Amino acid sequence: MRTNTVLISGASIAGPALAYWLHRHGYAVTVVERAPAIRPGGHAVDIRGVARDVCAAMGIMPQITRDRVHEEGFAWVDPAGRRTSEMPASLFGGEGIVAEYEILRGDLAHILHEATRADAEYRFGDRITALSEGDDGVEVTFRSGRTERYDLVIGADGIHSGVRALAFGPEERFIRRLGAYTAYFTMPAQPDLDPHWFLMHGIPGGRCAGIRPENEHTAKAMLSFRADGRTVDPRDVAAQKALLAEVFAGAGWRVPPCSTRWGTRPTSTSTSSGRCTWTGGAPAGSRCSATRATARPRSAAWAPAWAWWGRTCSPVSWPAPAATT
Ligand SMILES: Cc1cc2nc3c(=O)[nH]c(=O)nc-3n(C[C@H](O)[C@H](O)[C@H](O)COP(=O)(O)OP(=O)(O)OC[C@H]3O[C@@H](n4cnc5c(N)ncnc54)[C@H](O)[C@@H]3O)c2cc1C
Repeated sequence: MRTNTVLISGASIAGPALAYWLHRHGYAVTVVERAPAIRPGGHAVDIRGVARDVCAAMGIMPQITRDRVHEEGFAWVDPAGRRTSEMPASLFGGEGIVAEYEILRGDLAHILHEATRADAEYRFGDRITALSEGDDGVEVTFRSGRTERYDLVIGADGIHSGVRALAFGPEERFIRRLGAYTAYFTMPAQPDLDPHWFLMHGIPGGRCAGIRPENEHTAKAMLSFRADGRTVDPRDVAAQKALLAEVFAGAGWRVPPCSTRWGTRPTSTSTSSGRCTWTGGAPAGSRCSATRATARPRSAAWAPAWAWWGRTCSPVSWPAPAATT
């Protein structure tokens, strides 16, 4: 019997995870990744709920436990760096903003690649440039010039997915902008900061800054702000840095000069049509919105604090908290 063939575009989290399960179910899997190797970098990915069940079923929890970041919680600091409030990892039964298992995206991608490289064919440094769907498969043209036919093509190539654009149309049809930008980047270590806490500083004008220590050399930083009608080209890093410098001028605390990664949010996490499908992407536009989404349903008693934060610091407009327990 002929083995069904699947082409997955993207070798980060969704791509290798899918490769694992499709191989287990008898498919011949090829993964094409635009970068020359598994990309390092990124912030922490939470391994909680069903994600933890899936990782356990894949047998990769020992590697995740080995490589996870050890974060005790999340704290707000004032301009002088004094803590004003805290959310320890144990809050909300370990399901709050800081999960029990958090691992840097690049480290998780390496673990998933290691778990699948023997069973799936990985091709780095190439990408899909054209898709033509017929009755007996999808003809795929690669940037390298190669042309091949697959039974199924899956886009696991992130928010700005190339497969989604080729198969379903311009990304503006699938992206809902939340009215905020978030820049994530690596910065020099800040040795005097607590290495076990993610520190966040709210700044009037819908801005906030966060730093999580990484190792003795580096820390991970985040800057968020309300867009207020401002737009910037997602591929123009120089323009992004200039905008950040303008928006955060005089912001204080540890707001550093930086490079950026902008946050948008797909309106869905999977899209299918015929033999092409797209999955993955980011669950939320920013940590600020994630914090609030996590805490909101449980926090009517904190309504005045949320209202103040929403008026002054939140980069995203949220409806008022429900007046329940
Ligand atoms: C701003 C932001 C904040 C986040 N915060 C959190 C958080 O707090 N907690 C959490 O758990 N998660 C968070 N995430 C989410 C997490 O990083 C993503 O959910 C996860 O990385 C998505 O994995 P993915 O495999 O779908 O896509 P991605 O990680 O985006 O990977 C896509 C891969 O496809 C490759 N690629 C792109 N285009 C092509 C192409 N044309 N051809 C071939 N390959 C291509 C890329 O090089 C990359 O390797 C955040 C994400 C963002 C953007």
